[in-house]
Amino acid sequence: MIDYTARLSLLMQDIVARVPTLSFIDTSRVLVFARAGRANAEGAYATCHCVCLPPSEPGYYFWRDRRTGQLTRRSEWFVTKSPQVRIGTRPIDYMVSFALPRFCDQMLSRSRKQVHYKGHPNWVAKLDTIVHELYHIDPAQPGIRRIERADGTYSANCHGERFFADVVAMVNQYLDTKPNPAAYDFLQYSFDELTSRFGGLAGTAFRVFPSYPQRYTEVLDPQPEAPTGAACPVKPLKLPRVTRQFTEEDLMMREFFRDGSRRLPSRNRSAAA
Ligand SMILES: [Zn+2]
Repeated sequence: MIDYTARLSLLMQDIVARVPTLSFIDTSRVLVFARAGRANAEGAYATCHCVCLPPSEPGYYFWRDRRTGQLTRRSEWFVTKSPQVRIGTRPIDYMVSFALPRFCDQMLSRSRKQVHYKGHPNWVAKLDTIVHELYHIDPAQPGIRRIERADGTYSANCHGERFFADVVAMVNQYLDTKPNPAAYDFLQYSFDELTSRFGGLAGTAFRVFPSYPQRYTEVLDPQPEAPTGAACPVKPLKLPRVTRQFTEEDLMMREFFRDGSRRLPSRNRSAAA
């Protein structure tokens, strides 16, 4: 069985080693994992998740009287925090998730990217997606790269024409370095081709699949004083119980099918790696 997320991780290492703009990325702190995504359904092919953002500033929700503008109620003070992800001794700063099997079937000829890659084979669409996700990692501070507009202010959106054009340039730059085809040749196969060639397709996922580590809200204890002018009843926050720390124990291998996936017994873990 092909370990698809392991192949993607190795390819990312090769890209980072060959594309100077991405050379600041420490891939040992980037975890690749699989999410569910059907090939014929709408949705992202891949997503970059930052798990190293500092906690937010304390805040609270409030309700106002529409007529007087006075606060009538507020929530407890809370902060939002990134979950902690640590694999063995290495802390993880970013995670890149791939929707399987959707990503495997991504094709240049079916996407808007095609105008940028005239004469390139179909699988370059997948390479574009991988570089795109890596380019989201901010070189200057923990978080998702912000896109500066021509006037020096930052765009509210983390994409922009420049972003897409930069990705195309980096894809070409990578290919121009003549990488070993063994690093990327798995991208040329569709999901069906991969499963028949390798006898199955597996990837690392979180045990809480289809969930994964996400930012969570924490009530401050002790509670700071009431905000000035907010002498109103305080409503406790009802928060779902979430896992805040993840380790390699929270990872497992899943086999992906055209419509669904199954957890692989852990003894297959090393065999699939
Ligand atoms: Zn993006």
